[in-house]
Amino acid sequence: EPGLRLLRERVRAFPDFPEPGVLFRDISPLLKDPVAFKTLIDLLEDHVKASFPKIDFIVGLDSRGFLIGPPLAQRLGIGFVPVRKKGKLPGATQSISYSLEYGKAELEIQSDAVEPGQKVVIVDDLLATGGTMCAACELLKRLKAEILECLVVIELKSLKGSEKLSSIPLHSLLQYD
Ligand code: 5GP
Repeated sequence: EPGLRLLRERVRAFPDFPEPGVLFRDISPLLKDPVAFKTLIDLLEDHVKASFPKIDFIVGLDSRGFLIGPPLAQRLGIGFVPVRKKGKLPGATQSISYSLEYGKAELEIQSDAVEPGQKVVIVDDLLATGGTMCAACELLKRLKAEILECLVVIELKSLKGSEKLSSIPLHSLLQYD
């Protein structure tokens, strides 16, 4: 697929970021190239439209999910819901703490963000261990949302993050070992 090839050409790898031993996949060149960025949203839109006849919201994860989720939601003519890092959202929230490679993190969603039974697709730039996506799924389950799919640009296959998502389907555009 030429579109996917263009995307792959616009992802850079940085060794030892943010920690020694981590190979960081950087999507900044993809966002900087308007043709590649449009291609990304085109491919996500095509996939979602072909897979799901009805979606209520795109849910995006702090913070690179906020770069991809809103343009996708606009294309689909639906709204966007943010899942944020702890302490950023006003009003009643649900929160969940989860473990990172080093230490812990906490994600939050506004309690009234989604009604029970509403259908959502959760987007982020990259799935590594799956810990972040798994925590986001737990928040959406607490609000009794129907999670149709987890959707990422990049999946780091060797970390087996998709196994952590158990029954929820994952779709990725690019896969790396
Ligand atoms: P996980 O929780 O799956 O281990 O890590 C995924 C989260 O960390 C995502 O929100 C993603 O943005 C960020 N992340 C982890 N590794 C990378 C990476 O190599 N590149 C980018 N762009 N994000 C990463």
